[in-house]
Amino acid sequence: MKVLKNEPLDKHTSFRVGGPAKVYVVPEDEYELQKLIEFLHSEKLLYNIIGNGTNLLVSDEGVDSIVIEIGKALDGIEFVSGRGNAECADADGIYRIRALAGTSLGKTAQFAASHSLTGMEALRGIPGTVGGAVTMNAGAYGTEMCDVLESVEVITRDGKIKKLAAADLKLGYRYSIVPEEGYIVAAATFALKKGDKKAIEAEMADYQQRRKDKQPIEKFSAGSTFKRPEGHFAGKLIEDCGLRGFRHGGAQVSEKHCGFVINDGTARAADIFWLIGEIRKRVLMEQGVELTPEVKLWGNF
Ligand code: FAD
Repeated sequence: MKVLKNEPLDKHTSFRVGGPAKVYVVPEDEYELQKLIEFLHSEKLLYNIIGNGTNLLVSDEGVDSIVIEIGKALDGIEFVSGRGNAECADADGIYRIRALAGTSLGKTAQFAASHSLTGMEALRGIPGTVGGAVTMNAGAYGTEMCDVLESVEVITRDGKIKKLAAADLKLGYRYSIVPEEGYIVAAATFALKKGDKKAIEAEMADYQQRRKDKQPIEKFSAGSTFKRPEGHFAGKLIEDCGLRGFRHGGAQVSEKHCGFVINDGTARAADIFWLIGEIRKRVLMEQGVELTPEVKLWGNF
């Protein structure tokens, strides 16, 4: 399999910052991935999983652990209902599609739409992989992964493949037990209903337009920097502190949507990290609300 030394992680993250991974491995299929995990387990070597890197802030010094990419190399979608026939539902009227963890979530949602299957319209614009989205229980516009996810295949710490029901992952708001159990999501099965293709496509287009209008999707970022605090919106709290456009080095609170910290192209991870800390401090002091980063931090800060 592809093994790279000192691979710069800024190339692999949507924030476009981050130092190197000492070792960066790209397994080509599920079998290679499983064998790799068995080996790393037997050698007691630490590793981190990267999907599309759209929810990560990696430190400028990079990371010492091995980084395993579950991306384009582990890509594929198939029907598992109706004995694999796209036209046939299972006896319960449900259509089931299985996507490998490296498949883009958008592509999976589009695959569903192209077969007139409804349920994933609002997930179309989330720029991660299926594996990353399961791990984060990603969601948008009132739909979360847990609404359509039926089961997952995970690789356990010792390299065994296990099939779990979605409920076993205890999916909550941007939460799953995947990281704490040390699982690697290898594939996910979605349960969907037949709908009207034109209506599904129109709904998707509407969500895409809303993203374009409201979010700085053309800038380097990791999406919403903070989780939504109960009873509030992070962006509104930040705006009310007068922080719209506030910058540190090349990091800035987006002018378009204050819930996004963006990189203007010159930021270091340290700038972004400092800005996140300052926003948290000011929101706590001025609004009495504690913001928790949604973005995952890798390396030393
Ligand atoms: P990564 O960023 O690569 O990883 C995220 C975490 O998941 C890491 O801890 C990683 O170790 C782990 N992980 C990744 N793959 C696996 C796997 N196969 N097995 C085990 N662990 C794994 N998020 C939303 O929820 N809703 C939104 O509307 C949304 N909009 C966004 C808009 C923009 C412009 C951007 C840049 C980001 C947005 N995000 C949003 C954040 C991000 O896209 C999601 O969190 C996404 O699910 C992350 O997927 P990823 O493949 O990029 O994961």
